[in-house]
Amino acid sequence: MTLTDWTISETLARLRSREISAVELTQAYLDRISAVEPKVNAFLTVTGEQALQQAKAADSLRAQGEDRPLLGVPLGIKDVLCTEGVSTTAGSKILKGFVPPFTATSVQRLFGAGAVMLGKMNTDEFAMGSSTENSGYHVTHNPWDLKRIPGGSSGGSAAAVAARMVAGALGTDTGGSVRQPAAMCGIVGIKPSYGRVSRYGLIAFASSLDQVGAMARSVEDAALILEVMAGHDPLDSTSMNVPVPNYRAGMRSDLKGVRVGVPKEYFIEGIEAEVEASVRAAIEHLKALGAEIREVSLPHTAYGIPIYYLIAPAEASANLARFEGVRYGARIEGADMWESYKTTRGRGFGPEVKRRIMLGTYALSAGYYDAYYLKAQKGRTLIRQDFEKAFAEVDVIATPTTPRAAFLIGEKVDDPLQMYLEDVFTITVNLAGICGISLPCGKDVNQMPIGLQLLGPAFGEEKILHAAHAYEQSTDWHKRAPSL
Ligand code: GLN
Repeated sequence: MTLTDWTISETLARLRSREISAVELTQAYLDRISAVEPKVNAFLTVTGEQALQQAKAADSLRAQGEDRPLLGVPLGIKDVLCTEGVSTTAGSKILKGFVPPFTATSVQRLFGAGAVMLGKMNTDEFAMGSSTENSGYHVTHNPWDLKRIPGGSSGGSAAAVAARMVAGALGTDTGGSVRQPAAMCGIVGIKPSYGRVSRYGLIAFASSLDQVGAMARSVEDAALILEVMAGHDPLDSTSMNVPVPNYRAGMRSDLKGVRVGVPKEYFIEGIEAEVEASVRAAIEHLKALGAEIREVSLPHTAYGIPIYYLIAPAEASANLARFEGVRYGARIEGADMWESYKTTRGRGFGPEVKRRIMLGTYALSAGYYDAYYLKAQKGRTLIRQDFEKAFAEVDVIATPTTPRAAFLIGEKVDDPLQMYLEDVFTITVNLAGICGISLPCGKDVNQMPIGLQLLGPAFGEEKILHAAHAYEQSTDWHKRAPSL
């Protein structure tokens, strides 16, 4: 085991005992990046020099006797989060050359806790996608099988964590983009409840659904990152003023007294056989740890995809209106203002982003608003109520994260509907504003990782973290690493 294999907790223990310095550690990660990044392509920007500077600062703080929750820990940041002085593109050509004058609150809090940033991670353009194939720059490869997608949209973050190029990473999740790539790369990914983490400095995709999440190689590590970045931020009026628990203190190794719901709507036709088998085995495992298993029903699950694909593009069409080549990033000059707007947007946005803008503009247009957008909002309420009813009876809900393990690069690019269907198990969670975590629980016939998803009520992160930790600590799926 080399130092890039350590979890964040293991790393911190060695930093604290002075067995290694943050500079040595950061250098080891940069060497690892040089060795495997050419195969994986997880980064949009590697910030080696800045990382070493941050590491040096962390070492001198420690030498002065100071300690902080992430002092000297090297992380990756999804490129939809603004970082002062460092290129931030959201995976889009339209933001090529954009260097933000400020840092997102979530990232700023990591820096405040002493974290070192190794770079900005690849993403589907504006986080729209499930495979990282919609990145305006390059495709990221799954470290378990380079012919396969790493999931998306936080595919760069997930692949880099799995490939040991970063100790942990930030992703964002609007319909599954933290949990789905975590599942496909065999790591842990948590999407916090809406309002748990500040969205200030996150380039907005769908503002009522977006959340910043943590990705790591253990549940404890994900909990630590979340603890650092969670909590009220006066700069984001949707961030809630609710105290942040010490999640790690609430983690026990047994599940006595925990009621786990299994929704029948999540074991549907078309789900890969090994996915169903692994998740059912994981549920049995939760039972063996003391949990009480109950069937629950989430009857509006099937409406999640159509509802999401009205609401998310509607919000995206409004959020993306600001990119006209004047204020941010790339600009293609035309004969007049309108032509400049048109050419900049026409060439700057990729096909999936254009598709979403068209869908969203249509759903919001005067004649169709009631039939589509308003109807979708009513459906969203029904989905939220499904979860409220279920959580009146159970503490957490266990499901597969995705219907299938990672597919081949190119397999679904020409079929957007097939791509959208990949999110059937994750999307309703964002619509309801609740929290969810994905953690490794098996392998499919192609030896690709499978994810177990645990869902909790709004601001019930400690419940899913506890259950996930108990499962993880009594299994060894999380200990496996891809050989690269
Ligand atoms: N795959 C979904 C989409 O394409 C979700 C993306 C996300 O969570 N950012 O919109």
